[in-house]
Amino acid sequence: MTRAEEKMLIPVRCFTCGNLIADKYAEYSNRVKAGEDPAKVMDSLNIKRYCCRRMYISSIETIYQIIPYYEALRRRMSEIQSEIE
Ligand SMILES: [Zn+2]
Repeated sequence: MTRAEEKMLIPVRCFTCGNLIADKYAEYSNRVKAGEDPAKVMDSLNIKRYCCRRMYISSIETIYQIIPYYEALRRRMSEIQSEIE
C-alpha cells in the first residue's frame, strides 16, 4: 500500500447526524478494494445509519482529480520563472 492510498479525503463527520466517520474510512476503503462487500464492511465497522453509509458510498477521492491542475500550475510557474531569468 502506498502513502497516497492511505490518505483519503472524507468529511470527518456525517453531514446529517454528526457521527464521527473519517477514522474508519481507511479500513473501509482497503477492505472494499480487497474485494469485500461494502455493506458487510460497514456493518462490521458499526456504520449502521443510512445517513452515515451514504457518506462512505458517495465519497469520491477528489484528490486525484485535483492533482493534474497543480502539476500544470507548477509547470507554468517554472516556465514563467525561466522567462524572467
Ligand atoms: Zn449519519
